Amino acid sequence: MSPCPKLIAMPDASATAYDAIIVGAGIAGASAAYFLAPERRVLVLERESQPGYHSTGRSAALFSEAYGNAAIRALTTGGKPFFQNPPAGFVERPVLSPRGAMFVGRADQTALLDRTAAEASRLVPGIRRIDGAAARAIVPVLRAGYLAGAVLEPDAMDIDVHALHQGYLKGMRAAGGELRLDAEVRELARSGGSWRAVTSAGTFAAPILINAAGAWADELGRRAGAAGIGLSPKRRTAILFDPPAGSDSAGWPLVVDVAESFYFKPDAGKLLGSPADETPIAPCDVQPEELDVALAVERIQQAADLPIARITHRWAGLRSFVADKTLVAGFDREVAGLFWLAGQGGYGIQTSPAMGRIAAALVLGRTIPADLARLGVSQAMLSPVRLAAAKA
Ligand SMILES: Cc1cc2nc3c(=O)[nH]c(=O)nc-3n(C[C@H](O)[C@H](O)[C@H](O)COP(=O)(O)OP(=O)(O)OC[C@H]3O[C@@H](n4cnc5c(N)ncnc54)[C@H](O)[C@@H]3O)c2cc1C
Repeated sequence: MSPCPKLIAMPDASATAYDAIIVGAGIAGASAAYFLAPERRVLVLERESQPGYHSTGRSAALFSEAYGNAAIRALTTGGKPFFQNPPAGFVERPVLSPRGAMFVGRADQTALLDRTAAEASRLVPGIRRIDGAAARAIVPVLRAGYLAGAVLEPDAMDIDVHALHQGYLKGMRAAGGELRLDAEVRELARSGGSWRAVTSAGTFAAPILINAAGAWADELGRRAGAAGIGLSPKRRTAILFDPPAGSDSAGWPLVVDVAESFYFKPDAGKLLGSPADETPIAPCDVQPEELDVALAVERIQQAADLPIARITHRWAGLRSFVADKTLVAGFDREVAGLFWLAGQGGYGIQTSPAMGRIAAALVLGRTIPADLARLGVSQAMLSPVRLAAAKA
């Protein structure tokens, strides 16, 4: 009797082969591709016809070392040297420009202001607690009856998000990496130690699949056979409006309620405002709701004497969080060759230099870069395995 035929996984001749496929060309996928491409053949697959169409193109573009939990703050600070001194040719003008941030509070928020100042000044020496009068000297439209005090972060910066994102993609291409637009990953299968990604632009293969699909990361993970990381996309709304005539608003810092219930900041001759909403929603091309636009106007006007006669632009974007609000980078515990790069929340732009480096290091089987480890960043705090452990 002839022996049963053995099932041997054959390489898929119809699929173009790479070392790593990255799904998603937002800031997460682009930064990982930038740091990985010098060492491996990288392909970035993006569903949309322009990279940055979703969250990356809809942010408030702020770099604040006082924002987020301790892990986020360490990742942000760890990326500062790259922002301040990117490699030659990365961008044509500085990625960061001075802005400042002022966390403001009412009398009933005094304890929170004190706590914020104490925590943030441990990592960022320039941060200081100021009283209401000093805060109003910086942003005179703040209402005396509302404001009791503030925490000033003078070194917060505006980020040129478009230049940063394009810098990553350009650098990735210069190192031999490829970007395919209009390439939605519709099917994923693994055999013979290789992923086969069937997309609207062809079929591609690689041993490693990096899931940088933003709000769709859990959806993509499940397509790859994984259990998911409990990602929760949340809608955030933004509006642009004219500053008061004759005001010298261009130099104002970002003004944000210390409990994050609204913010406003100068933006190219206008003011950008938000009700800092966090409404859970299924991943989609999210649009602003009238109620949230109205909330933005109401909350900003409660705190500041800012007539908002005309809203010139409104939009919404998704900020996607896992349970502990820290980012996720690491291999899936059960599905071989699946690397998660997700949960960027409201910090994906400012943490991108650190997270791109970390993703490349871990994919290559290395440890967290030493400069980031010194700031307290560990593989365990970013690993998707922590989320499974928390659920169990
Ligand atoms: C209003 C607002 C203000 C913000 N302000 C700041 C800020 O000041 N500072 C800061 O650091 N961060 C800020 N953020 C957060 C920041 O924008 C996000 O953390 C970051 O953009 C997330 O990047 P990403 O690459 O993970 O996601 P995205 O930019 O959404 O990219 C994911 C990509 O994956 C693609 N994709 C998904 N599924 C597939 C598939 N099956 N096949 C192919 N492609 C797929 C999508 O099309 C998308 O382009 C803000 C966000 C919002 C909404």
